[in-house]
Amino acid sequence: MPSGESYIRGVGINSLTRLYCLIGDPVSKSISPIIHNWAYSRLRTNAVYLAFRVREDELSRAVEGLRVLCSGFNVTIPHKTSIIRLLDDLTHEAYISGSVNTVKAKNGELLGHNTDALAALTLLDKLGCRGGVATILGAGGAAKSVLYALWKKGFKKVYIHNRTESRAKGLAEGAEKLYGFQAYGLPLEPGALQESLKRSDLLVNATPLGMYEDYDKSLPISSLPEGLRILDLAYARGGTRLEREALRRRHKVANGVEFLVLQAAYAIDFWVGKTPPIDEMLGVAKRCLGYG
Ligand code: NAP
Repeated sequence: MPSGESYIRGVGINSLTRLYCLIGDPVSKSISPIIHNWAYSRLRTNAVYLAFRVREDELSRAVEGLRVLCSGFNVTIPHKTSIIRLLDDLTHEAYISGSVNTVKAKNGELLGHNTDALAALTLLDKLGCRGGVATILGAGGAAKSVLYALWKKGFKKVYIHNRTESRAKGLAEGAEKLYGFQAYGLPLEPGALQESLKRSDLLVNATPLGMYEDYDKSLPISSLPEGLRILDLAYARGGTRLEREALRRRHKVANGVEFLVLQAAYAIDFWVGKTPPIDEMLGVAKRCLGYG
C-alpha cells in the first residue's frame, strides 16, 4: 500500500486540483470521464473529471452545488434544455440553439455553451455537406444543436422525425421561425422516414437508438438511398448498426465517437484554453469502445 502522500502524487490530485464533471441520467455507460482525464493528463492540467447521475428533480440542487464547487461541467440527456433557466449567461451558440452541453463556472457565475453544435459543424465539414436537405431523428437537445449547424452550413429544408411526434412538430415550427428552414415534424415510422430519406442529402441520428443495439422497425437501415451522408450521434462497441450498414454500402459516415471527442475537446478548450490532440483522443475513445 503506498503512503498517503505518494498515492496522492501518483494520481496527480492535490488541493489545487480543479473539478470538472458530467451530469445526466443515465451516465453509467459514459466514457467522458476516461477521455477527459486522459486529456488533462496529456495537457498537464491539474484537473479531474467525474460523472454524476442527476435525476430531473435533482437538477436545481445539483447545479447550485456545482456553482461553488467546480470549474465547469458537461450536461447530457435529459437536462440540455432545462438547465438553461439555472444559468447566468449563454454563448451565442447556446443562445441561438436553445441547448447547453457545457457550462463554465467562474466566481459563482455559470456560463452555458454548446460544443455539440461546434462538433456537428466540424463533422458536416468532414462529410462535405454544403447545404441541401436533411432528415433528423430526434427532437431533443442534440437535434437542436444539429439544426444550428445545418443552418450555418446553408441547409434549407429539414424533416424531423421523433418518437413523440408533437415534439417534432414543435421543433419544426421553431426551426422555421428561427432559421427560416422549410421544416416538417413527423413520426418516427418506417414509411414516413423512407419518404423523407428519398429527398435528403443527409441523415442525422440524434436519438439513443443504436447505443444498445436496439434499432427497431422504425429505422429502415437496409434501404438507405444511394449517396445519403450519415451523421450518427449514437455510439456503440464496434459501431452502431446504422454506421456499419452505411459503411458497408460506401456511404460517407461520421460517427458518435468522433462527435463525442470533438464536443469534449471543444469543452476543454472553453474551460482551460487548451485543445487536446484530437486524433490521439479519438484513438483513446475508440480503444475504450472497441472500434476497429
Ligand atoms: P434529449 O434532449 O433528452 O432528447 C432525447 C431524444 O431522443 C428525444 O427526441 C427522444 O424522443 C429520443 N428518444 C429517447 N429514447 C428513445 C427511444 N427509445 N426511441 C426513439 N427515440 C428516443 O437528449 P439529447 O441530448 O438530444 O441526446 C439524444 C441522443 O443523442 C443521446 O442519447 C445520444 O445517443 C446522442 N448524443 C450523442 C452525443 C455524442 O457525443 N456522441 C452527444 C449528444 C447526443 P422523445 O421526444 O419521444 O422522448
